[in-house]
Amino acid sequence: MLGLRLIDDAEFIIARLNESGYEAYAVGGCVRDAVMGRQPKDWDITTSAAPDEVRRVFSRTVNTGGKHGTITVLIKNKAYEVTTYRVDGKYSDGRRPDIVTYTSTLAEDLGRRDFTINAIAYHYSEGFVDPFGGIGDIEKRIIRTVGRPDERFGEDSLRMLRALRFRAQLGFEIESETYASIIRNSALIEKISAERIRDEILKILLSASPQGIMSVVLTGLMDYCYPRAAEYLRENADKILPALTAGGWEADPASNAVNRLTLLLCFMPESQAAELLRGMRFDTKTIRAVSLRVRELSEKDSLFSRMLSNPSLYYVRKAMSRLNAGQLTDCLAVAEIFNRVDHGLRADIETTVGKITAAGNCLNLSNLAINGRDLIKAGFKPGKPTGDALNAALDAVLRDPALNTKPTLLKLTLELLNARNGPAPSDNPVPEVKIP
Ligand code: ATP
Ligand code: MG
Repeated sequence: MLGLRLIDDAEFIIARLNESGYEAYAVGGCVRDAVMGRQPKDWDITTSAAPDEVRRVFSRTVNTGGKHGTITVLIKNKAYEVTTYRVDGKYSDGRRPDIVTYTSTLAEDLGRRDFTINAIAYHYSEGFVDPFGGIGDIEKRIIRTVGRPDERFGEDSLRMLRALRFRAQLGFEIESETYASIIRNSALIEKISAERIRDEILKILLSASPQGIMSVVLTGLMDYCYPRAAEYLRENADKILPALTAGGWEADPASNAVNRLTLLLCFMPESQAAELLRGMRFDTKTIRAVSLRVRELSEKDSLFSRMLSNPSLYYVRKAMSRLNAGQLTDCLAVAEIFNRVDHGLRADIETTVGKITAAGNCLNLSNLAINGRDLIKAGFKPGKPTGDALNAALDAVLRDPALNTKPTLLKLTLELLNARNGPAPSDNPVPEVKIP
C-alpha cells in the first residue's frame, strides 16, 4: 500500500539520499499524523547515511543533534531533521542512553522508538515499513509500546508522560498492558528533569483534551512530579474538570498556555501557583502572567472580582488600573468558563473596556494630571500623606475622567486634606455610572 502524499521537500530529501546510495524514509510523528489524515507539523527523515554523509549530500545543513546523529537540512529556508539509523545503548539512568550507536538497519531504528504508532517508516515508492503493527494500532486508536512496556519505561521514564500526552493530543486509548505498566512504574518519573516534564504537561494542557491532565494524577505520575499539584487537582477536580472539558476551546481566547495554566490553577492562592510554576521551570514572563490572573480570579476582593460583582464604569476602570485590556479579557474568558459571568455581561464589559481604551482615560498614577511634587508644593507632607492624596485623586478620576486636570485635582485633594481636619469626607463624591 502506498497512498501517503509526502510534501515535495521530504520527497526531494529522500530522493537525493537514495541517489547517493543511502536508504531514507519519512518516520515518526509525521507518518503517524499523515496516516491519520492530520497535517504533520514537521517532517523527519531517517537514513542509513552517517551524519557526515548527510552533510555531503545537501548544500545547506546544520549539525543540530550532535551525538544523536541529527542533521538539519535546509530547503527553501525550511528545516528538516535527518537522523541516522541508530540503536540506543544501555540506559543506566532511566533518562538517556549511555551511548548511541549507528546501525545499518531500518528495523533496528524503528525498534528503539517508543510507541508502535511512532515506529512506522514511509517511502514514496516502497510504501510503509511497519514491523510493529503501528498502522493497525492507529486504526484501532491505541497507544502501545514497542516491546515490553516495563522494559521501555525502565529505559526512559519520560515515555510514560509521552503516552498520556499522545492520548490527549490524538484522542487514542492506552493499551491496557501499557497503562498498567505506567501505574506500576510511575515513581521512575522522578529521574526526569523538570523542563522535560513541563513540556509534556504543557502539551497536554494545549491539546484538544486538556482534561487529560487528570490522567497524570490518576496514574500516580503527578504525585512524583509535583505532590502539591496532585493534591490540589484531586481536591478541585469537580470544578476544574468540567471547565477543562467545556467545548469551544479552540475558538476561545483561553486556548493559550497562560490561560490554560490560569484555568488549572485559579483555585490556588497566588503564592502557591507561582511557587509551583517556578518548580516547573516556567519562564518569568509566564509565571508573572499566570500569577496576576490567578490572583485577580482567586481573591474575592481583587479589583477584577469586585468588578464582576459591581460592573459599573468605575469598577471596570478600576480593574483596568490593575489589568491591561488583554489581561482583563483573558480573566473574563476564564470567569465565563467558571460561570462567574454570563456571556452577555462579558460582552458588555469587553465593549466597555474597548471604549475606555479608545477614550484614553487615565487609569493609573502616571497619567494623572498631578504628581507628588505638585502636592508637596501645595502644602502636602512628603511620603504617606502625598501618596494617599494621589490615590484619592486617581480614585476620583476613575469615577469621572473629566476631573483629570491639574486645577481640579489640586482643589479636590486640598478639600480632602481640609475635610480630614473638619467633617468626614464623603467616600462617594461622584455618582457611579452603571454599564447600560
Ligand atoms: P510531535 O507531533 O509532538 O512532534 P512526534 O512523534 O514527532 O510527535 P517527537 O518528540 O518529535 O514526537 O519525536 C519524534 C520521533 O522520535 C517519535 O515519533 C518517536 O519515534 C521517537 N522518539 C521521540 N522521543 C522518544 C523517546 N523518548 N523514546 C523513544 N522514541 C522516541
Ligand atoms: Mg516531532
